[in-house]
Amino acid sequence: MQYQRSFNFSAGPAMMPEAVLEEIRDEMMNYRGSGMCVMEMSHRSKVFQQIVEEAEADLRALMQIPDNYRVLFVQGGGTVQFAMVAMNLMKNGKACYVETGAWSKKAIAEAKKYGEVQVIASSADKNFSYIPDCSDLPIPEDCDYVYICENETIHGVTWNTLPNTKGHVLVSDQSSMFLSRPCNVSDYGLIWAGVQKNIGPAGMAVVIIREDLLRDDLNAYVPTYMNYKVHADNDSMYNTPNCWSIYCCGKVFRYLRNLGGLEEMQRRNEEKAKVLYDFLDTSSLFRAAVVPADRSVMNVPFVTPSKELDAEVVAAAKAAGFDNLKGHKSVGGLRASIYNAMPKEGVEALVSFLKDFEATHQ
Ligand SMILES: *Cc1c(COP(=O)(O)O)cnc(C)c1O
Repeated sequence: MQYQRSFNFSAGPAMMPEAVLEEIRDEMMNYRGSGMCVMEMSHRSKVFQQIVEEAEADLRALMQIPDNYRVLFVQGGGTVQFAMVAMNLMKNGKACYVETGAWSKKAIAEAKKYGEVQVIASSADKNFSYIPDCSDLPIPEDCDYVYICENETIHGVTWNTLPNTKGHVLVSDQSSMFLSRPCNVSDYGLIWAGVQKNIGPAGMAVVIIREDLLRDDLNAYVPTYMNYKVHADNDSMYNTPNCWSIYCCGKVFRYLRNLGGLEEMQRRNEEKAKVLYDFLDTSSLFRAAVVPADRSVMNVPFVTPSKELDAEVVAAAKAAGFDNLKGHKSVGGLRASIYNAMPKEGVEALVSFLKDFEATHQ
């Protein structure tokens, strides 16, 4: 079959590995002799049980997840996690948040519905272009957890050193960097990631939670579905899960393992991002928005000297086969999301296009 695919720089839903899409295509009409598509299958069937179990096993192997952590596949994407974290982990009704961009702001706004939220550090003073120093923060003794967004998808900043939580539980939103580099799971109480950024089809979050944080004594108003323990006790099968997303994510987990795991992904991602940042740092027209030390290797926001020129680049890029380079509406400018599935050739082609644009727009 002939198909022409564009270089897709979307922040999410985003590119998936072509080899995985082809495998899914080949299994579409009859999954491994089952006589049906995974979309048509009972989630209680043996065939599907095996799909979920393999997906979890591959994820555990990739991240070397310790036995005292549970892996949950939860519907509702990322946004549901903003509420679920607060509902489940606020025991004393008090949590500390670090504000580093649009997605931590959303998490803060949601958590405020359920308890007292202290913003213990923020980079709002410089339009979220850096990660604040979090080595010695004022964390109250009775704080239930410290929350960060480890990669801000819109502002393009990443944590390279985790905050000193002074013994408190660390919660991290890893949505736009999940499986992009090695991760020491034991540093966290809870990690969650909406899968449509760096892994698979939208509509699901992966939650990795330390067992002792699962609770029986939640507030009576907490919906059954919003209780992590319900998901853990039922192996993510309390109700019909997002079967399709689990299946596709499982394929990506296996694919990443076969590529060499997270060390290899980190090597590739850093190499790829360097091509773009090196160009931006020497360009006379374009400029990266984030300080070098805190730059994301997944989401790269950049600007020209004017909004009009920004829009012109986006339009010219689209015509040349580079999709979704427009910056998020809240910040403007341009943004190239270069997740795991973006090949290095895609970034090189983009840089070559930007160079040409620069040469004709001095
Ligand atoms: C996209 C995103 C979310 C929200 O995900 P939805 O599935 O759209 O609710 C949360 N956090 C981060 C870091 C994101 O990139």
